[in-house]
Amino acid sequence: MNETPPELSTQLIHHPYQPPAGFAAPQPGVFKASTVIFASVAAMRQRDWKGKAGYTYGLHGTPTTFTLEERLCTLEGGLQCLLQPSGLAAIANVALALLKSGDEVLIPDNAYGPNKALAEGELRAWGISHRLYDAMDPADLAAKIGERTRLVWLEAPGSVTLEFPDLPEQVRICRERGVLCALDNTWGAGLAFRPFELAPGLGVDISVHALTKYPSGGGDLLMGSVVTRDEALHLKLKLTHMRLGLGVGLNDVEAVLRSLPSMALRYRAHDAATRELAAWCARQPQFAQVLHPALADSPGHAHWRRLCAPQGGEGAAAGLFSVLVDARYGQQQVDAFCDALRLFKLGYSWGGPVSLVMPYDLRAMRPGWPKHLAQGTLLRFSPGLEAVADLRRDLEQALAAALPPPP
Ligand SMILES: *Cc1c(COP(=O)(O)O)cnc(C)c1O
Repeated sequence: MNETPPELSTQLIHHPYQPPAGFAAPQPGVFKASTVIFASVAAMRQRDWKGKAGYTYGLHGTPTTFTLEERLCTLEGGLQCLLQPSGLAAIANVALALLKSGDEVLIPDNAYGPNKALAEGELRAWGISHRLYDAMDPADLAAKIGERTRLVWLEAPGSVTLEFPDLPEQVRICRERGVLCALDNTWGAGLAFRPFELAPGLGVDISVHALTKYPSGGGDLLMGSVVTRDEALHLKLKLTHMRLGLGVGLNDVEAVLRSLPSMALRYRAHDAATRELAAWCARQPQFAQVLHPALADSPGHAHWRRLCAPQGGEGAAAGLFSVLVDARYGQQQVDAFCDALRLFKLGYSWGGPVSLVMPYDLRAMRPGWPKHLAQGTLLRFSPGLEAVADLRRDLEQALAAALPPPP
């Protein structure tokens, strides 16, 4: 009996052509899938869905996500990595995997705001309590670790006020008390310091990174990662990750793979421009204080120097600085200054080519006014990749337009 040939529509789906193996190019190929095809039922049954020896389902990884995960392990100095739909999803994955009803999590008082909002708005409803500790006082952290503390969040520096904590000391305290610590490493990005090697034999348990920032570098996608150096801890996080269905778009993974090779160069360029502008701002009488960990009078400068410039010299810092506009200027004038900026755009996030500025209401973010900060209105700048002279002129013209110098 002659077999009926498949119809055209079927042929186009089940096509026999296989391109020759051995293609090599600078950019890795992109594999997109929800469905992964197994060669046989036996192969499907044998496939280990927890490891990286094979593929089971798009949500559990493709060659493209595995490739990015391995590169991020190299970036951060870790051994295992989970990709996440956003930096905040990475934070949530850690919290949901490690905390259960009755547990407590400690969060630094200057932490990334949505981390606190997650604790207040979601974890609390699950019976998980949280307390804020003074990021600049290790004794306060030590005092607040209690019977029920299961996780300590660390951030270096704080995401808006940029105080640099004594990170090795904080990790040492967590170790001594047997509590897991997770660092939000978005600022350091794997480039400013090594989160798993803060001192000989001393590192964080978990490094969370908002890839949305420097690894993307485009201001055009959202992604996060959770990197560890412990297989059992990774598996715990991974099971929660799988059960919650936290997937990433493969086009976005491709974009990060394309940006990653230039990340160190971009980080240095943002750093250099930021320091130049921060130093310039420190000379303007309208600003009562300029916050950038590499400035000698910025809170935690010595901690930054020890960790991020251990050999002396310039060291490394992300492209963020904040200013406290002198309290003699009202909110309306400060808002007018932001509106007068032309190259600095008003927007959240950072790490892309476009310079950004954002006013923050510190009174709503912190329990009391931190004693190490001058009175005033806080603005955070994240210089992009424009020519730094143009950015300085932009600040100059907006100051002249909206914040006349004091008499
Ligand atoms: C941006 C950011 C995040 C969250 O990243 P998203 O991808 O925007 O969710 C977390 N932590 C820090 C310090 C950040 O700057």
